[in-house]
Amino acid sequence: MNTLTVPQLKEMMRYVADEIIAQKDALCRIDAEIGDGDHGIGMEHGFTKVKEVLLDRDFATANELFQNIGMAMIGAMGGASGVLFGSMFLGASKTQSRTEVDLAAFSQMADAALEAVKQRGKAEPGDKTMVDALQPACEAMRVPTEDFTTLLSAAADAAGQGVEATKQYVAKFGRAKSLMERAVGHQDAGATTVWMILCAMRDWCKNQ
Ligand code: ADP
Ligand code: MG
Repeated sequence: MNTLTVPQLKEMMRYVADEIIAQKDALCRIDAEIGDGDHGIGMEHGFTKVKEVLLDRDFATANELFQNIGMAMIGAMGGASGVLFGSMFLGASKTQSRTEVDLAAFSQMADAALEAVKQRGKAEPGDKTMVDALQPACEAMRVPTEDFTTLLSAAADAAGQGVEATKQYVAKFGRAKSLMERAVGHQDAGATTVWMILCAMRDWCKNQ
């Protein structure tokens, strides 16, 4: 598979939503180590709303699909991470209008998603945030591949390594910031979610 239609992207995102909702407790546990333990709850709220919106209607373009996903997350999650995860999808939507997404287009949309998160949150790699998973994933996707499973496997692997690397960082944002060196040894929750989203996308493609 080397192109995704809008209905396929919608199905993929429904699968992603179910997978993240299923990880609610794991995400809360990770956040509890150096944050306030609510990350899984926020993601569950966000992706439950996303599922509702996706069930409700069809979308003409990939852009419209991702725009609605982003708005749903911002509306349902609230707080800083709602805006950041929402901005990620909104960023992807603010690219050239497409009724089909090929591999290069997917990579461009991911780059736009990363830029939106960085603009909104001001975090850079090494700050112990979702950027530590998203940026290496985007870099991996800039390498041309032949199909979506390969592209997303590379992205998920890079994001997974990024999550692993967050363990050694001191946090520059969020609640973990005040822990300073005590945050070292613990992975970042938002980066973990980004990795899980990419794993779910890869698995959905694999199963087609
Ligand atoms: P809260 O911190 O409000 O409890 P969550 O627990 O849902 O929100 O999400 C925390 C995650 O948000 C962090 O693990 C981190 O990945 C991400 N995050 C926080 N601040 C920023 C930022 N400025 N830029 C990018 N990501 C951020
Ligand atoms: Mg939290």
